[in-house]
Formats: sequence, C-alpha cells, structure tokens
Amino acid sequence: VIPASTSSHLRLGEGAEFDAIRSMLGEWGSRAAGIGDDGALLDVPAGERLVVSTDASIENVHFRREWLSAQQIGARAAAAALSDLAAMAATPLGLLLALGVPPDWQAELTELARGVGVAAERAGCAIVGGNIARSSALSLTFTVLGSTSQALHRAGAKAGDIVYVTGRLGGAGAALASLLAGRVPRPAHMERFVAPVPRLAESRWLVEHGVHAGIDLSDGLLADLGHLARASGVSVEIDLDRLPLVDDVDAAAAAVSGEEYELVVAAPRAARLRPEEFAKRFDLSLTEIGVVRDALDSPVIVVGARVDPARGHDHFS
Ligand SMILES: [Mg+2]
Repeated sequence: VIPASTSSHLRLGEGAEFDAIRSMLGEWGSRAAGIGDDGALLDVPAGERLVVSTDASIENVHFRREWLSAQQIGARAAAAALSDLAAMAATPLGLLLALGVPPDWQAELTELARGVGVAAERAGCAIVGGNIARSSALSLTFTVLGSTSQALHRAGAKAGDIVYVTGRLGGAGAALASLLAGRVPRPAHMERFVAPVPRLAESRWLVEHGVHAGIDLSDGLLADLGHLARASGVSVEIDLDRLPLVDDVDAAAAAVSGEEYELVVAAPRAARLRPEEFAKRFDLSLTEIGVVRDALDSPVIVVGARVDPARGHDHFS
C-alpha cells in the first residue's frame, strides 16, 4: 500500500516522496479512501466470484511520451486494465497500481494520478493500493479486481451463434498508424486511441441477455476472434462489409486495429439480442458481424470487402 511500502524505493529527496504520494491520494480523494493499511480488505458480494487481472503499460512499448499527456497516459492505462474486467462481465471492486517512475517523470506524478482517478471514477472503481519504485522507463502496472455471478468466457461459442461487436472500429489503429508515421491523427481517431472506454455495464447487459462467450478487443478483431474461436473449439465467420467503422477507416484496417477495448461476443440466435435496445441504453452501437461455425481449417474466416478499392489488392488472400 502506497504510504507504507515506498520509502526505500523512490528517492525523491527529503519529504518529497511523501509529498508526491499525498498529491496522488489528493487527486483520488474518496476513491482511495480505503488506503492506509499494509493490504486492502475487500468484500466480494455473496454468491459472486472474485475476478483478478493484471496489465502493464510501459513507455516506448505501449506508448510514447510525445503522443500523450501524463493524464492521458494514466487514464488510458487504467481503462485498458479495467477492460479485462469488462471482458469477464465483472463489476469492479478495486484496482492497485504499481508505478515505475524515472527521475524525469517525477514532476508528472500528480497528472498521471489524475488520469488514473478519472478512469477509476468513470468505471465506478475504488483505488485500493499501490507501490512506487524508481525505474528506467515509466511503467504503470495495474491489478484490477472485480466480481461476478455470471462470468463471460472466451470459451462457450457454439456453431450457429451470432457474433456481435460493440462500438465502431478502426479509430485506435488509424491514430496509431498516423503517430508512427509522424503525422497528426484525425481528431476522431485520436479520441479513440487516447480515451478508450471499458464496456463494463454493456458486458453485464450482454450476459444478462444471453451472450455466452466474449472477449475485449485489445489485439484487434481478427486476432481476438481467433482467441475466442480457439478457446471455444469453433470457427468464426465474419463479414467485413458489416463491420461498424469510424469515419475514414476501411474495413480491412478496422479488422486489425488493436487497443479498441470494444467487446466482441457470441449469442445463440434464440437470444434475439436487440441492438436498438442496446444502443438506446448505452448510446453505443451493437452490430451483428458474423456467425459461429463448426471448427474448420481456420479459426477465423473473413468474407466480404475482399478487394479494398483504396489500395487495389486483396488484404486477405
Ligand atoms: Mg483482454
């Protein structure tokens, strides 16, 4: 826990370390009210199971300093970690943050903490502990804790299921491609890259309405559907012509756009998911993009949009 365990690790100078920690706790306010002992005590609601996941965000691996403000880095890393609770249909109980801080980032700690606090607030998640250590690159390692009585798994998709995806895809990948090429991303793309939203309430709604397999999109639709298909022992056929796209992104690019943090799920046809009801409730699209088939040679089969007119060749040949 932050106040007790950091003094030997971070050399900020006399008093400065605790000033930094105090400023972080100040940013978090009542969200971090439970911090103070050597460990956090949490109640799991009766009848629910604990869900735990961990996720690291490392400078020059997951982001570059010049792309994002410190606040954005904190918020984005926390959202990415919380998305794994959404993938499990869990309700957040708390998060812990282990920070590795190089000397030239020490002045940014408050801003990093502010971003983490914003993401935690938005997800309704308490901050229950953490640690700060000196490090050669900035790293934020989150452990997220949640609970559920009805977990969503990658395994469970069955032949005949309908496959749906939340939101519109492609923005995060398009922004990243622009940043890597030294161009300024379009604002709508950058928004998707900078401020992903873990689909926590959406995930619980989907499970309550009959979804029985799912995953969050961190590696890209095709890769993550591959994980789901292999875990379920099925093949998934998706129609690129049906992909919901952000503006100015083609379907082939959207299908491999990573760090979207949307959900892709499978539900029996009989569940009759109602995208219009979902959209009204969450102000977010839910789009049917394919079907589950018995296992074939390939876990993911792509149909539609085979020729990308903009580039003039088949991306999936
Ligand atoms: Mg995940």
